Amino acid sequence: MPRKVGASNRDRYVSRSKVRRREACAIGGRDDMPNRVAELCLSCSLCCTNGLFRSVPVRATEVAGLRARRLPLIKRGDEWLMPFPCAAHNGRCSIYSDRPSACRDYECDVLVALNSGQTPESAARSLLDRTNALVASIRTRIAGTGEFWADVDRFCKDSAEWRSRHADLLLDLFELHALLRRVDRKNG
Ligand code: SF4
Ligand code: SF4
Repeated sequence: MPRKVGASNRDRYVSRSKVRRREACAIGGRDDMPNRVAELCLSCSLCCTNGLFRSVPVRATEVAGLRARRLPLIKRGDEWLMPFPCAAHNGRCSIYSDRPSACRDYECDVLVALNSGQTPESAARSLLDRTNALVASIRTRIAGTGEFWADVDRFCKDSAEWRSRHADLLLDLFELHALLRRVDRKNG
């Protein structure tokens, strides 16, 4: 199940600015997807690289296999998590056929709409491309560790002076938030 990460002062600021923290969850692409949908998903990677989620839950039975691949894992209570950005992501998922079940089971709303014929492929691609481009652009402007939402948390300050100096960044964060809600209504 998705799991909320504890809030900091910065989180509260970010929440007020309607840019929510991501919850720990899963990533993309069921094995029975049509090829063109699977290809779109593989070329997107938004949910592997930290734009949507902070980590992916890992079943106890999957821990040994991931450890054998030297992938970093975190134990939180009884839960195992693989932190994001996912170390298995190297442009694309490098363990696609052995990815955790949470990754296999996850479909964002874009994939669901595409599979059901509600969204044309061009619109789906355009939405995902814009979302990924915004994440990349914001990432270059917030010095950090690479953990996207934690870096946003650290970078944002709760003051009028800071907001006036970073108006462009805030507008992009608002747009990103709106796009993420379209990509995944539950977690965006
Ligand atoms: S956001 Fe959607 S399309 Fe992109 S990688 Fe994740 S599941 Fe696939
Ligand atoms: S294991 Fe693969 S599909 Fe799962 S988050 Fe990492 S890169 Fe993405």
